[in-house]
Amino acid sequence: MELADQVAVVTGSARGIGKTIAMILAEAGANIVISDLNVEAGKETVEVIKAMGREAIWVEADVSKSDQANLLIETTQEKFGRLDILVNNAGITRDNLLMRMSEDEWDSVIAVNLKGTYNCIRAATKIFMKQRTGRIINIASVVGQMGNAGQANYASSKAGVIGLTKSVAKELAARDILVNAVAPGFIETAMTEKIPEKAREALLQLIPLAKLGQPEDVAKVVLFLSSSRSSYITGQVINVDGGMVM
Ligand code: NAP
Repeated sequence: MELADQVAVVTGSARGIGKTIAMILAEAGANIVISDLNVEAGKETVEVIKAMGREAIWVEADVSKSDQANLLIETTQEKFGRLDILVNNAGITRDNLLMRMSEDEWDSVIAVNLKGTYNCIRAATKIFMKQRTGRIINIASVVGQMGNAGQANYASSKAGVIGLTKSVAKELAARDILVNAVAPGFIETAMTEKIPEKAREALLQLIPLAKLGQPEDVAKVVLFLSSSRSSYITGQVINVDGGMVM
């Protein structure tokens, strides 16, 4: 198994893309730290991973709070004595046109999506530096590359995640710590369920493969970036978007 005995932290893994990433990494042999705000769903995901024959623990953590991100990584180190893979997946949307967007809508999206990624990377890097190995995979979005009306906050946060990925990749390369991003297009989860039918039809026109993606499509690329198959890849953004951005 590609990831036998490795330990992965996946943020926002109670449901959606994060849960599927956790399951695919577990299938490849990794033990998993499930972390989220959603306690009930998070604990259910832990049971799903355990039923697959892997070790899994639950840590409730709001990634936007640095003390909680630190605790997440410290708890992982205490339980498993190592950390191999950090997947920064937790993310939110608070859509509105810029002229109507409140300061709170702006701040909350930047706090979770961008600062949350920074908080977890900073906490995990202490361990990765000592180990002289590690993988960081940040979930960005095509919206961070192309922009989207009504999502100035979200697009800025995800563009920030891309800049953060490339900068940290340069800082950590000498220690063999690889840092990459995955930019999903439109993936069928609770996040995209809210999109009205008309907007959904318009979106499909932008996707050459003419269908929405599935969480597995993203998770398979995260597995690749977590494994030895990608050992000469860092600072990259891999789009999983049915050809939206090319
Ligand atoms: P989702 O179904 O809404 O799941 C996101 C998870 O993150 C939820 O369980 C949520 O908990 C959790 N979360 C929210 N704020 C958090 C915080 N402060 N700390 C820790 N966990 C938190 O979303 P998804 O569609 O799976 O998206 C996962 C990632 O992919 C996000 O970064 C998103 O931006 C990105 N993405 C998604 C798409 C798409 O089409 N779905 C496209 C591009 C990028 P609650 O249940 O409590 O909210």
